[in-house]
Amino acid sequence: MGPDYKMTALSYVMSIMPAAIVDELQLARHGYRIHPQHGYFAPLPDGRHLALSGTARERHASIASFSARDADAHVQWETWLGDLANTLGPLLSAVPPKLGSKRPGDLLEQLRLLWRLRRLDQRGVGDVTRLFTMSIADLLAEWFESDPIQGVLAVSGVIGTWAGPRSAGTAFVMAHHQIGDLGDGQVSGTWGFPEGGMGAVSDALRAAAESFGARVRTEAPVARIDVRRGRVTGVTLESGEQLRADIVVATTHPRITFLEHLDRSDLPDDLVAGIERWRSRSGTVKVNLAIDRLPEFTSSPGFDPRIHGGTIVLAPSVGAIEHAFQDAVAGRPADEPFADICIPSVFDRTLAPAGHHVVSMFTQWVPHEFAAAPHTAELAAYADRVIGRVEAVAPGFTNSILHRQVIGPHEMEHTYGLVGGNIFHGELTTNQMFHMRPVPGYADFTTPIAGLYQGGSATHGGGGVTGIPALQVVRRIERDRRTGLLDRLRPRS
Ligand SMILES: Cc1cc2nc3c(=O)[nH]c(=O)nc-3n(C[C@H](O)[C@H](O)[C@H](O)COP(=O)(O)OP(=O)(O)OC[C@H]3O[C@@H](n4cnc5c(N)ncnc54)[C@H](O)[C@@H]3O)c2cc1C
Repeated sequence: MGPDYKMTALSYVMSIMPAAIVDELQLARHGYRIHPQHGYFAPLPDGRHLALSGTARERHASIASFSARDADAHVQWETWLGDLANTLGPLLSAVPPKLGSKRPGDLLEQLRLLWRLRRLDQRGVGDVTRLFTMSIADLLAEWFESDPIQGVLAVSGVIGTWAGPRSAGTAFVMAHHQIGDLGDGQVSGTWGFPEGGMGAVSDALRAAAESFGARVRTEAPVARIDVRRGRVTGVTLESGEQLRADIVVATTHPRITFLEHLDRSDLPDDLVAGIERWRSRSGTVKVNLAIDRLPEFTSSPGFDPRIHGGTIVLAPSVGAIEHAFQDAVAGRPADEPFADICIPSVFDRTLAPAGHHVVSMFTQWVPHEFAAAPHTAELAAYADRVIGRVEAVAPGFTNSILHRQVIGPHEMEHTYGLVGGNIFHGELTTNQMFHMRPVPGYADFTTPIAGLYQGGSATHGGGGVTGIPALQVVRRIERDRRTGLLDRLRPRS
């Protein structure tokens, strides 16, 4: 990308960061500002489109142009999901208890969990069970009959996931993402584009931390987490510099934290085994573009903030998404990848020169094995095909491209520390969620090393720029300090 364009390489939209974090850290004072996202626009190869934006009446009319039944069902779907989000939402900001443990303290935490779920009646329990176990394709087929609505709604079930819409458990992935959209405000923030790009969120967090006295160092890769007699003593940087600390919070991928930065002999075998079998695939490819004019869609010519300022979805049906996944399972990049496309410069003029724009295309899938090697030529051909799909619904798009950046699983792993190319440090599947994230017994943000905590995307509340694991870690450290646990565990020299 040229120097005149500002593009966040990977993530692109804020979703489920709790308002409490934004408020407590006074992020607005440090430049955090969100431009709300304007719904979804799905242009179709046959020249029509589905628009899930605007007023309820407009959304209803757009869906009804494909199926009157689906238009009515969508209203009920949003109510149903909203109710579920209100029930499950608080769980996102809960500390997962050690399910199965018989220790009195752990039993109490398990009871607390049950109490939190008291709003669930018998039917609700059934709904949640189905949500956790079903495929998004099966769930949507129970509600809707037309391909375009099923396609658009299926995307959030497979985003960042090494699973097609017909895979069990993808209904849960959809729920994780929708909680931010539909919850009652306890965990939901606004879906939208941060002014200055996603990097501006990090900048605001950094400024907030510094205003509270923190010192932030970047370009200082850690080589090792230092441990003495079961207690953390600091970290050693790759440069050889040693930093001493009583408390260390690791937010790196769990394979980096536990298998590279620590000595396995300092860890229980079951933890090591759990991290070794941790699934971290997704086959995601990010395509970023700089363009000299906005795309003009055949089905809706001219500028429309609800189209250009929303998310443009290329996923015409569940079948098409599944096909893209099956291509990748068979070992080849998808012939027709699905894409979630945003143009944040429509609102945020700091990102590109006047009249020009930056385009973020989140796409899937290439084989997850692409994490092992760059596969540059195949990724370039894959990006051509994504761009070709936009060209088919917005003629002239290809000619508007000035720069492009294609980031596949190998670069995600080697440049960004996303081992295996998974966008969330580990698949967001039911076998890796809540008390299992990242391993049973350590889903409470602690580790077996005294003073060493974990707060990355592979802990509960993670998967997205949520800030929730960080909040939990801070609470946990405060609790351990209060109860004197940290002092009791300090090794005597
Ligand atoms: C293509 C893509 C698109 C996404 N889109 C969105 C989106 O639109 N919205 C959203 O909410 N989420 C999105 N996500 C997910 C989101 O980016 C992650 O869930 C989130 O960044 C996790 O934050 P984290 O702090 O846990 O981990 P990270 O952001 O991965 O931070 C971990 C940091 O550790 C650093 N690191 C690695 N090794 C070392 C070492 N040895 N020493 C020191 N530092 C090290 C890494 O460089 C990295 O900066 C996307 C992810 C990807 C890949």
